[in-house]
Amino acid sequence: MIIGGYQPMSLIDYPGKVCSIVFTQGCAFRCVYCHNPDLIPIKLEDQKSKMLSEEVFAHLEKHRNMIEAVCITGGEPTIQKGLRAFIEKIKGMGFDVKLDTNGIHPNLVRKLIDAGLIDYFAMDLKNVWERYLDVIQSGGSAIVEQCRETFEIIQSSGVAHEFRTTICPGVHTKSDFVEMAGYLKDGETYFIQETQFQKTLKEGLSTEFGFSVPDLVHYLRSIYPSLIIDQR
Ligand code: SF4
Repeated sequence: MIIGGYQPMSLIDYPGKVCSIVFTQGCAFRCVYCHNPDLIPIKLEDQKSKMLSEEVFAHLEKHRNMIEAVCITGGEPTIQKGLRAFIEKIKGMGFDVKLDTNGIHPNLVRKLIDAGLIDYFAMDLKNVWERYLDVIQSGGSAIVEQCRETFEIIQSSGVAHEFRTTICPGVHTKSDFVEMAGYLKDGETYFIQETQFQKTLKEGLSTEFGFSVPDLVHYLRSIYPSLIIDQR
């Protein structure tokens, strides 16, 4: 598996657990607000990636008594050929696994669920399905269908999960969020997060959304009281 980065400890990336974060290298999408553009290029395994892999397992072994889980994020983890073996190794060490995905590989997600390898999913819901491509700037309708399939697989998986949307300047409207929240089922969790403007794939994005995130969250909660909706 091609690892692009490693954060030894986080208190906020796995709900209720102390975790390490593994960043995989490579993503097929081109979201203009991507705050990890260095992780988008798909690369071959190199010395840095091998060293990072060794570092991950050495750190996890050394801090077994403190780390409870590993969050695997990207880039996009599911494009990695070695993802399943990597997760099996982590699970074999006794850690819980959270997988962040953009939803591009429903078949792999289904297999990981069936194998009982994932304890928590976080999936990006990029936009309303009809205008999904406006955010991901890559692929065509088949990709959107794959993301929709993954969304539905996770919804019916029985595995703890959350969906989240990063506000895309110039694309999302308030009514888009009403529609997206409407895709969720009672009791599901939906996070809304702002673009991190310090670093984005496309420079010079507008910082004006036309609405504030707290107001949007409040508004959505009033429409969907059976969902858990919050700002991240
Ligand atoms: S924000 Fe978009 S482009 Fe960046 S890693 Fe995630 S899915 Fe890929």
